[in-house]
Amino acid sequence: MIRTTTWTSPEVPKLSGNPVPVSLFNTATEEIEPVKTVSGVARLYVCGITPYDATHLGHAATYLAFDTLVRALKQAEVQVEYSQNITDVDDPLFERANATNVDWQELAASQTDLFRGDMAALRVVAPTDYVRVQDVIPEIAEAVGVLLEKGVGYTVATPEATGEDVYFDLAAAQQGDLYDLGGMSHFSPEQLAESFVEFGGDPERPGKRSPLDPLLWRAARDGEPSWDSPAGMGRPGWHVECAVIATRTLGDSVSVQAGGRDLRFPHHEMTAAHAAAITDERFTEHYAHAGLVAFEGTKMSKSLGNLVLVSKLTEAGHDPAAIRLTVLAHHYRENWEWFDTELLRATERLETWRAAAKRATQSEEITSAPDSSAQIRAAIANDLDTPRAIELVDAWAAVEHPDAALIEVVDAILGIDLAG
Ligand code: ZN
Repeated sequence: MIRTTTWTSPEVPKLSGNPVPVSLFNTATEEIEPVKTVSGVARLYVCGITPYDATHLGHAATYLAFDTLVRALKQAEVQVEYSQNITDVDDPLFERANATNVDWQELAASQTDLFRGDMAALRVVAPTDYVRVQDVIPEIAEAVGVLLEKGVGYTVATPEATGEDVYFDLAAAQQGDLYDLGGMSHFSPEQLAESFVEFGGDPERPGKRSPLDPLLWRAARDGEPSWDSPAGMGRPGWHVECAVIATRTLGDSVSVQAGGRDLRFPHHEMTAAHAAAITDERFTEHYAHAGLVAFEGTKMSKSLGNLVLVSKLTEAGHDPAAIRLTVLAHHYRENWEWFDTELLRATERLETWRAAAKRATQSEEITSAPDSSAQIRAAIANDLDTPRAIELVDAWAAVEHPDAALIEVVDAILGIDLAG
C-alpha cells in the first residue's frame, strides 16, 4: 500500500522513571479503560483531513489530543503504530475544486501541504502510516468487490450513470456479533437518521434496502474523477476508504479508533461495520473522540467565515507553542470555544514557564515539589488530563528555584520546548 510523506516529527525525549500504563475514555462503553496492546504494540487509527480547507483550530485540537495519547503511550514503553488517512477523494473536495475552478489534485496537494506545515509547527508526532485515498483506490475497489461477493454490498439502479451505485447492507452486516447499529454512538433512531443526512447520507434513495445503508461505490458521473473496480468505473464512498486504509496498514483490528466527536455516526460506526464485513473480525473495542471547538459562541465553519486557522495565527506572529498550550488547557473531550484572549493567556503562561526553565538551568538549588514529574505523567495517563498537567507545571514555574528535570517532562509529555 502506497504511503505519502508526513511532516518533520519532533524528537520525543524518553523520560526516566517508571512507565505509567495509559487509560482512555471509551465512547462505546462510556468508561475510562486501559489502552489494549498486543505484544507491547498499540495500533492507533485517527481519521485524517479532507484537504479542501486549511487546518482550523478544531482539526488541530483533534490531532493534538491524539498526539498527547501517542506521547503518553511512548512514555509507557508502548510501541505505537499510528495510521492516518487523507480523504482526498470526497464530495466536499470535488465541490470546492469545481466551484473555484481548480484541479482537485492541486487543491488537495496544496491543502495537505498547509496541514503538514501546521502539524510540524505544533510539534505533533507524525503518523507511521500516512495514506492518501487517491493512492489506494485499487485496494478499496477490491474490498468493494469482496463485499459484493459476500452479499453485504448490493447495487442500486443509477439512471444518471452508465454503471450502478453500490450500497452496504447494514442489516446483513448486523447478523454476526461484529457490528451493532448505534452500539458505539448510543444515538437514538432519530439521532442516527439526522446525523446520517447531515453527513451526506441519502435515506430516500429509491432501491436501497434500508434508509441508513451507506454508499460503498459511486458509479462514474460526467465531470467526476473515476477509477475502475469490480463494480465498474466510479469512486469509493467515504467510510470504506478508512476501513481499507486502517485494516491494510494496521491489521484486522486496532487498539483505538479515534477522531473528532462528529465522526461517531455515521463515519466511525460505518467504518467499523465495513471493516468487520471485509475481515470477519471485530474492528475495535475502543473508540476515542475529541471535543469540538466553536468560535466565540458559534460553530466554526467555512460557510460562516469564522474559521480560526493555525497558519494564519502563526503568520500573524503567534508562537505555535502558545497555540498548542491554548488547546491543551482544555480537556480533549470538552467542547469549547476559541477566544483570542485565551491565546494571550497561553502566551503569558509560556513566558512564565520559559523564565522558570531559565532559572532552573542557572541554579543547582531546587525548591519545587520533588514529585511533580510523576504527578504530571499520572495525570496524562489518566485519560489525557492536560489541564491538570498544566496546573502542575504552573506550580513548578511559580517557585524561585524550579527543578530543571521538568523541562524534559514538559517537552516529552506536553510537546512544549521550554528551552526555545
Ligand atoms: Zn475515517
